[in-house]
Amino acid sequence: MNPTVRSALSHAAQVPCALPGDPGYETARAVWNTDVRRAPLAVVRPATVAGVRGAVRFAADRGLPVAVRGGGHSLAGFGTADDAVVLDLGALAGIDVDPRGRTLTVGGGAVWGQVDEATQRAGLAVTGADVPSVGVGGTTVGGGFGWLHRAAGMTCDNILSARVLTAAGETLTAAPDSHSDLYWALRGGGGNYGVVTATPVPHRDAVQLLGVNALAARQDRTAGLASVPARRRRRSSRG
Ligand SMILES: Cc1cc2nc3c(=O)[nH]c(=O)nc-3n(C[C@H](O)[C@H](O)[C@H](O)COP(=O)(O)OP(=O)(O)OC[C@H]3O[C@@H](n4cnc5c(N)ncnc54)[C@H](O)[C@@H]3O)c2cc1C
Repeated sequence: MNPTVRSALSHAAQVPCALPGDPGYETARAVWNTDVRRAPLAVVRPATVAGVRGAVRFAADRGLPVAVRGGGHSLAGFGTADDAVVLDLGALAGIDVDPRGRTLTVGGGAVWGQVDEATQRAGLAVTGADVPSVGVGGTTVGGGFGWLHRAAGMTCDNILSARVLTAAGETLTAAPDSHSDLYWALRGGGGNYGVVTATPVPHRDAVQLLGVNALAARQDRTAGLASVPARRRRRSSRG
């Protein structure tokens, strides 16, 4: 990539990009599965939705492939690709908890450890993944199971709506009454439907205790069970 293109991509994404040979490139291109060693054209980590849109348009205008990366935990390495612009969403990790509405809005690059920390502060929880470093984006578009899925359903079952940036650079809200086909596809259909920039998911405050229970049970089963309300205890004994 020549210097003009580097500067155009950085301008579009509103952040510096990492190109082959740059000091930060090796770190920027690395994904969880160290057997996957792709060589992207560039890696960008925009901090805003406008920056994500800019990077997508940059690639579209030049016919370049884009690989979207959430938490980078795809075993097959779907969060990266050779000769592509890798869009690392890790900086879009804002989490907004509404304890009264029992809803949660999560940035497309957040990981489950960040979500669990935010929800547990509010005494709530949602099905995510069992490992804190796994990305919300990839888990959700792939289905998703975690400590709570027997009680609260798969991760994707909890999605109320998703804000999506399409390959054309358009921002949409996918929900039951808005782009419902896209909403259907995003809930477990896998990648390639667009960039999910925020996903509000409902909380299950009752089953939050099951989550604590499931984790605590590994250390102190009696203490964990003691914190589960009777109604939930019956459900957990079936699951
Ligand atoms: C150690 C480990 C533990 C795991 N534990 C669990 C578990 O408990 N439960 C479970 O269900 N799964 C689990 N998984 C599987 C994991 O959910 C999937 O690999 C998932 O795809 C990882 O998501 P990610 O965002 O980290 O991955 P990435 O590699 O970043 O992305 C995977 C795919 O999702 C797409 N994607 C990611 N973010 C977005 C976004 N914001 N918008 C649009 N597309 C996006 C990417 O383009 C790519 O196609 C685990 C995986 C590992 C390696």
